[in-house]
Amino acid sequence: MKRKMIILLSFMAIIIITVFTIILYTNKNNKESEREDDGIRIVTSFYPVYVLTKNITDQIPHIEVDSLTDFSAGCLHDYQLTTKDMKLLSKADIFIINGGGIEGYLEGVLDNYPDITVIDLSPGISMLESMEHVGEDNPHVWLDPELYILQIKNAKKGIEQYIKSIETDTDLRENKGSRSINSDILSKLNSNTNDYIEKVDALVQEMNLMLDLVRDLTTNNKVSNKVVIFHDAFAYLAIKAGLDVVYTVEIDEDNPLSAGEIAEVIDIIKEENIQYLFAEEQHDSTISNRIHEETGANVYIIDSAVTGDGSKDSYLDAMKGNIDILSKAFK
Ligand SMILES: [Zn+2]
Repeated sequence: MKRKMIILLSFMAIIIITVFTIILYTNKNNKESEREDDGIRIVTSFYPVYVLTKNITDQIPHIEVDSLTDFSAGCLHDYQLTTKDMKLLSKADIFIINGGGIEGYLEGVLDNYPDITVIDLSPGISMLESMEHVGEDNPHVWLDPELYILQIKNAKKGIEQYIKSIETDTDLRENKGSRSINSDILSKLNSNTNDYIEKVDALVQEMNLMLDLVRDLTTNNKVSNKVVIFHDAFAYLAIKAGLDVVYTVEIDEDNPLSAGEIAEVIDIIKEENIQYLFAEEQHDSTISNRIHEETGANVYIIDSAVTGDGSKDSYLDAMKGNIDILSKAFK
């Protein structure tokens, strides 16, 4: 009888321990998935903003970064939001945009997401006037690495302010993480930002050397400084190099250039004796090739850093490629 009792008690003890362990384990898992849900979700408007944000938030736990548009979407001049995009936006805490009108598709859309914190990267940046759309800003500022550094600083400041607002708002703090987690995030954000700015700064030095060379050649009249560009993006680099953008060919897939417009561009190139055409990989090369055939002006393909494989060094690699191409063109 006593032996039976001991066996029964041991059996009960095993059951209790097992049940207790299961409860503990389930609770822990729940907490972990809760924490994942409570991380800071950042959505970026398009590729260059994504790459920038990815760099400054690199390896920070509790921060998740997604691009609203596909990495192959390029510039968003005529973009339309999809249902998938809207779903992603509805889950975001922060939405980071380039500004300057490039995110035209957002007009009226953000009113539907009152809880989202929008970080605009354009304050303090003076934009060139668009040659494609007279009277509007040319928003492709990231192609000037010095302006890109200002964008990096604006992004960091915005994210920092958001995290500090969590620290002061108890409701948010309970949901989004503790004060100590937030201070870890802030210090990593700070060091990531400094590291990335240092890399871009090295690029600025390299680019300035090359741009000085180009300016030297053109001011001494060894080569012409007149160029034709396809798409406004190249204007920032052209101006830094002292190049004179005589004409910007508007590339618009929906409204292809008419025969008359192409003839006009060809006339200008012949009249002004333009040797350099700067086109972009993401655009159809039919027109630039045709202009080259008719005028003899050389076509150089630059990378406006609006598409890529999502790697952190995408921007740096694209810009180094552009430095090489400009050096070759003006050699
Ligand atoms: Zn563009």
